[in-house]
Amino acid sequence: MEKFKNKLTQFMYGRYGTDQLYNALIVAYFILIVVNAFISSAIISIFMAAVLIWIIFRTLSRNIYKRRMENEKFMKIWKPARAKGSLEIRRIKEIKTHRFRKCPHCKKVLRLPRTRGKHTVKCPCCNKEFEMRILG
Ligand SMILES: [Zn+2]
Repeated sequence: MEKFKNKLTQFMYGRYGTDQLYNALIVAYFILIVVNAFISSAIISIFMAAVLIWIIFRTLSRNIYKRRMENEKFMKIWKPARAKGSLEIRRIKEIKTHRFRKCPHCKKVLRLPRTRGKHTVKCPCCNKEFEMRILG
């Protein structure tokens, strides 16, 4: 086992390895397995093979700079998507007590107590006031 480990380390030397995009591709691959178990489509099978090849190719790649750039591009899309997702989860969790509204001036999302009626809200971010109605 130790020998195998050493060989693997030697083999991976100078190769790219794993990153966030790798993790995302693995997750995507497993989602595709589950989806394909239900609808078993040829297109998904081809897509799965492509994802798998891409995963292996990236992990073993010696062009570390290029792979790092790919990961950065991915993170640029993923980070705001994840932030938006967690906001949506919070919005649902606090639906009974709070409302989330965007400030029309600076576009920041504000968390407001759920009080029915028309309110004047002062944005803590840009200090501008705006009117808002909470229906219920
Ligand atoms: Zn604002």
